[in-house]
Amino acid sequence: MTAQKTTKDLLQAPKGMRDFFHDSFYSKQGFFEKAEEIARYYGFQGIETPVLEHEAILSKGVGDDTDIVSKEMYRIETQGGDRLVLRPEGTAGIMRSYIEHGMGSWPQPVFLYYGGPFFRHEKPQKGRYRQFYQFGLEILGSDKAVLDAITIHVGYLILKESGLDIRVKLNTLGDLEVRQAYEAKLKAFYQEHQKELGALDQARIDSNPLRILDSKDEQSKKVNEDVPTSIGSLNETSSEHFKKVLEYLDAAHIPYEIDHALVRGLDYYVHTVFEYICGEESLALGGGGRYDGLAQTMGHNKAVPGIGLGLGVDRILEYAQPGAYTPKTQESAQFFFIQLGFEAKAKSFEIIEILREHEIAVEHSLAKNNLAMQLSIAEEKNIPYAIIFGQKEALDNMVIIRDMKKRSQTSIAIADMAEYIKQL
Ligand code: AMP
Repeated sequence: MTAQKTTKDLLQAPKGMRDFFHDSFYSKQGFFEKAEEIARYYGFQGIETPVLEHEAILSKGVGDDTDIVSKEMYRIETQGGDRLVLRPEGTAGIMRSYIEHGMGSWPQPVFLYYGGPFFRHEKPQKGRYRQFYQFGLEILGSDKAVLDAITIHVGYLILKESGLDIRVKLNTLGDLEVRQAYEAKLKAFYQEHQKELGALDQARIDSNPLRILDSKDEQSKKVNEDVPTSIGSLNETSSEHFKKVLEYLDAAHIPYEIDHALVRGLDYYVHTVFEYICGEESLALGGGGRYDGLAQTMGHNKAVPGIGLGLGVDRILEYAQPGAYTPKTQESAQFFFIQLGFEAKAKSFEIIEILREHEIAVEHSLAKNNLAMQLSIAEEKNIPYAIIFGQKEALDNMVIIRDMKKRSQTSIAIADMAEYIKQL
């Protein structure tokens, strides 16, 4: 049942969702610009998929028993009766796109990056929203260990730009065979210790025993002290794969620690799983893993091995050093454009366009008419120079450049304005 909302409620963004403006808008834009720039150097190309996907893609791909599918998905039934969901994560949609567009016939593997909003109906709190933003990388079409390492490496580089001390936690679940055998081993182990587990974890023994490994429940944590590890259960190929990943990470000087309890919430992971954390409370800023079986669980007739990650942009920006991710458009303006009288206002666009063509950032308040008021805005914003354009200047094709601190000014022809400004 929906509760009755007052007008005041309705004039607020939906719970767990928010508006981006001022610094929050530009730091998000700056993050995506930096992430994209780094990803492109490493050979990734951009992709954008719809915010809505078929429900079955997520329930089969991510898994019906996972929290994000069973509890947190926003479901939509269209007028035509299609069952769609607001995407809670990126990988399933990217795999769908890879299959739909026959990317398997491109040179393999295919390196993709994407970014945008994702949706999970979770309890909102600091660093946790119902509409949140991720930047993701996916490499599809190869099972080589070097690709696990490059994914971890590129995510690490993007996060390092935040100025935070980033650590990588790493584990392996082995290939599908190992993972299944390990899950069976865990089930048997937890059944033996059923009564010692927390209530929630007791109910998970059959449906999702891997999730008990990273349980926050104090009782379950005790049981986990003796739990068998996945690394201890690897076969030769899985062990080889993991060793290679570690060797590549060592060569790239990525600081990592192996965490036997790291499994991550999604069903599709095999082999390498990882997470980026920072701070004493080990805040997770992003994570990922290998998903060699995903395409087939989604119903495709061929295996498409892949590795990917998702970075939590909201959280990264909440903890990053101020100004760590500044977009190109936010370079602070050094010039404030002031116009006086009708002729000057009418020619203002021309002046601003000349500045734009020369990539000179400028601010203005075209709705104002009065000189003193415009000067005081420039002063308030601490902008060092004003470009003053009055009736006389408009007729003479001149502008006045005023040094706001020294209170000195010079007249200059519009034709020479850009060059003169660049000298300043
Ligand atoms: P996941 O897809 O669950 O592995 O999430 C990857 C990263 O996205 C996490 O490490 C978080 O930083 C971020 N993230 C996940 N869920 C949320 C959320 N509800 N709100 C904000 N950030 C989130």
